[in-house]
Amino acid sequence: MYDLIIIGAGPGGMTAALYAARSNLKVLLLEQGAPGGQMNNTAEVENYPGYASILGPELAMKMYEPLEPLGVENAYGIVQKVEDHGSKKLILTEDKTFETKSVIFATGANHRKLDVPGEDEYGARGVSYCAVCDGAFFKDQEIIVVGGGDSAIEEAMFLTRFASKVTIVHRRDELRAQKIIQERAFKEPKMAFIWDSVVTEILGDDKKVTGVKIQNVKTGEATEKAAGGVFIYVGLLPQSEAAQGLGITTDAGWIVTDDHMHTKIPGIYAIGDVREKDFRQITTAVGDGAAAAQEAYKYVTAL
Ligand code: FAD
Ligand code: NAP
Repeated sequence: MYDLIIIGAGPGGMTAALYAARSNLKVLLLEQGAPGGQMNNTAEVENYPGYASILGPELAMKMYEPLEPLGVENAYGIVQKVEDHGSKKLILTEDKTFETKSVIFATGANHRKLDVPGEDEYGARGVSYCAVCDGAFFKDQEIIVVGGGDSAIEEAMFLTRFASKVTIVHRRDELRAQKIIQERAFKEPKMAFIWDSVVTEILGDDKKVTGVKIQNVKTGEATEKAAGGVFIYVGLLPQSEAAQGLGITTDAGWIVTDDHMHTKIPGIYAIGDVREKDFRQITTAVGDGAAAAQEAYKYVTAL
């Protein structure tokens, strides 16, 4: 029986593990992949205090390294279900069941799809959701990036290292991204912008992507643009399948908590991107993780 099982080893989960272990709880960190979460898909992080700039995977390792010496146990597993039996919770993976007194959901969010023709067909053949993973395949090619948030603009900037030109297609005439990120993008000679427009289809031949169909949402005008790759950054979907059945999510799947990361079930907490909140960042996930570990400690001690 663990005191606390944390599902997901992103920045939120790793911080919760750090604080819980330092409170002497018996902690298991369950992860379905490599520790680091979305940081592993991020080139440079420039807004984590203490670092002017650090590679995402490097920051991930720096967060992970102190955990084992503190006694945090790690296990691989895709958590499929969490059951609440009062002072005992069951965590079910494909092949194991773990028992714990308390649980923190730190499962984050995943990219949303654009849902246009050609997106699935050309998956891994020119359509990508990860510039860090796939950018180098597009050396000296033209790339389309869809979206206007932090991810789209930062990752488009990263792609200018490889591409001959990167064109952002955004559905409005104003970006959502933070101002400092926008300003850099507007100054980058390899970047171009197509405003008030959506990608309606991804085009290709029998091998790979060759371009996109674009429609102006104000005039209705349809055009085609040639490109070797299409990177899609149109927002996030919660990874909360394991919480279904507990009645703690919104209809869209975000887990609802109070300011102390409590869900409505005693001993079950949620932190980071999977939580219903406005501002999804590494720093906010880290803050959530510290708070939830403290609450779990109080809960377990009271039991
Ligand atoms: P995540 O980092 O998403 O980690 C969740 C973990 O849970 C994952 O490792 C996942 O494998 C695991 N998991 C999920 N479901 C299960 C399951 N069922 N069983 C087991 N494990 C599971 N923020 C910044 O502050 N600065 C940046 O520069 C920045 N750049 C970004 C760039 C991109 C392209 C993206 C997409 C995001 C960026 N962000 C940035 C946002 C930041 O990465 C997230 O806000 C942060 O990673 C959220 O942390 P988290 O711990 O909540 O979740
Ligand atoms: P986001 O902030 O939700 O932005 C999604 C973008 O996609 C928006 O510009 C949106 O347009 C557009 N969009 C949504 N649906 C669309 C559709 N169907 N067709 C065309 N465009 C569509 O998502 P994100 O950029 O992935 O960021 C997610 C979170 O991670 C945010 O909290 C962000 O701050 C954080 N993050 C932080 C950093 C950083 O701090 N450096 C870097 C990356 C991500 P509208 O603008 O019109 O809504």
